[in-house]
Amino acid sequence: MIRRFVKKLFKSPGAPAAPAPRSEPDIIPLKTHGITHDMLSRGAERVCEDLERAGYQAFVVGGAVRDLLLGRDPKDFDIATNATPEQVKRLCRRSRIIGRRFQIVHVMVGQELIEVTTFRALHDDDTATDAHGRVLRDNTFGSQADDAARRDFTVNALYYDPYDETIHDYHHGYADLKAGKLRMIGDPEVRYREDPVRMLRAVRLGAKLGLEIDTATRKPIRSMAPLLDNVPPSRLFDEMLKLLTCGDALTCLKRLRAEGLHHGVLPLLDVILEQPLGERFVEQALTNTDRRIREGKSISPGFLFAALLWHEVLANWNQRKAKGEISIPALFAAMSDVLDRQAEKLAITKRLVGDIKEIWSLQPRFEQRSGKRPYALLGHARFRAGYDFMLLRAETGEIDPEVGNWWTAFIEGDHNAQETLISQAPRDTAPTKKRRRGGNRRRRGVASGEGSGSPTDHSGV
Ligand code: ATP
Ligand code: MG
Repeated sequence: MIRRFVKKLFKSPGAPAAPAPRSEPDIIPLKTHGITHDMLSRGAERVCEDLERAGYQAFVVGGAVRDLLLGRDPKDFDIATNATPEQVKRLCRRSRIIGRRFQIVHVMVGQELIEVTTFRALHDDDTATDAHGRVLRDNTFGSQADDAARRDFTVNALYYDPYDETIHDYHHGYADLKAGKLRMIGDPEVRYREDPVRMLRAVRLGAKLGLEIDTATRKPIRSMAPLLDNVPPSRLFDEMLKLLTCGDALTCLKRLRAEGLHHGVLPLLDVILEQPLGERFVEQALTNTDRRIREGKSISPGFLFAALLWHEVLANWNQRKAKGEISIPALFAAMSDVLDRQAEKLAITKRLVGDIKEIWSLQPRFEQRSGKRPYALLGHARFRAGYDFMLLRAETGEIDPEVGNWWTAFIEGDHNAQETLISQAPRDTAPTKKRRRGGNRRRRGVASGEGSGSPTDHSGV
């Protein structure tokens, strides 16, 4: 009681001042919005049906409604309900409760994953926040109106009822969407303080959906960007991954930079883009990625981060070599330097760090084309990623395009063609085994991936 009183007296700068919720939504009928229930996925329909049959309310909400209204294929379907996570879990087979900060239920229907969230209550003075006003826990349940006021943008707070095919709209999201506007619900400053990741979401959704960020929503971003420092690195990583794989990564990254947001997530980006070839390299990598995503092809997040950070590795590596360090150990040291610095802000998962290191450390081996070395490299489990990365380097002028052409011919050629290519290839610049002298040096070479020639030897990569 006393704590509550004191808390009221000394509100932290970011103590969430909840936007006043509208208690009644506009009901938009089918003939206006045109979304029929068969436009939903099978899983979304099924889960809503199960919940409604048991007497609960269930709506498709968020990105799926927004995307359907824009004539786009929704990435996934989220459902909001007045049933608690426990009740949802009891009702839906193959479901489990996940999350701590936000409890949600994952329901599997066939191959499809549906996320079901319970309507959340508005924040009040008892909501747990950190010193900057960031909301730490959030599992108090409320009404649909509360839930709508808690969502980030008006276009994300549209609730589609599959039963009567109406859309419930509390914050004029329908009109905003039709006008091409991305508008924050409530006071943008307060909402960014509650969750700074919303700044990144504004940039991503604006770029991906071609929506203009409303002036009041955009204005505080530049000055509030430092709040991203305070977000757990793993959450930033998730959001950056979404951004890089949304199909408009290049536009997103340019906008992040324009808003000054990249310092918080990719602190090295400015440095990288200032490297002589860095900007071209990052742009080419993202253009290729965006194209692949639009064509429905898979992309590798490890490849993407490897590309984003490569020119920083190169700069560091070159400095080390200029100081007389041995090439391959210098590359490995440069890789660690760059990844360590990046990890302070954005936690790239361990598995991805492994992929990134592999892609980078394979690069010197593409320049070694004598003897059995090309066969050994071709047999490497991560050859394809390394090869694509090397092509990117050739495409952007970092290495001689001849190296890229040689490898393409080598992959496509039969054994005779491969032998001819090897005989015509320039001599390796790296020392061969025979030329190596003392034991120490030899051990270092092998351990650092200078290649022993055996197709199964992936040591050091
Ligand atoms: P997409 O899935 O296409 O990236 P989305 O809007 O569906 O976009 P999700 O992360 O799936 O994004 O979130 C689903 C919904 O949850 C959003 O539409 C929004 O209503 C709400 N939401 C997500 N993140 C936040 C946030 N940080 N603050 C407030 N509401 C959020
Ligand atoms: Mg979604």
